[in-house]
Amino acid sequence: MIITVVILAFVASLALCRRIDVKSYNNGICKECGAPLTHFDTDSQGGRGYVCYSCEPYRYIWISYPWVDHKHINPILPPVAHR
Ligand SMILES: [Zn+2]
Repeated sequence: MIITVVILAFVASLALCRRIDVKSYNNGICKECGAPLTHFDTDSQGGRGYVCYSCEPYRYIWISYPWVDHKHINPILPPVAHR
């Protein structure tokens, strides 16, 4: 019975963290000014750091869950090289 409670608490905390990540990331758009976030660093745990250079001071966001921003990490780059 206690195991069930522990598992439920674990799942609930995961869901909560995920929601915060998704909310901060906001599909790669800064919530303050609407500018696209720039991926500037990845830490040793695999967390991705994003920054909004349009905000003053710069707004930094760290995303730790892999499914939140997978489109951003592996973007389909437009063929600008031959332009
Ligand atoms: Zn901003």
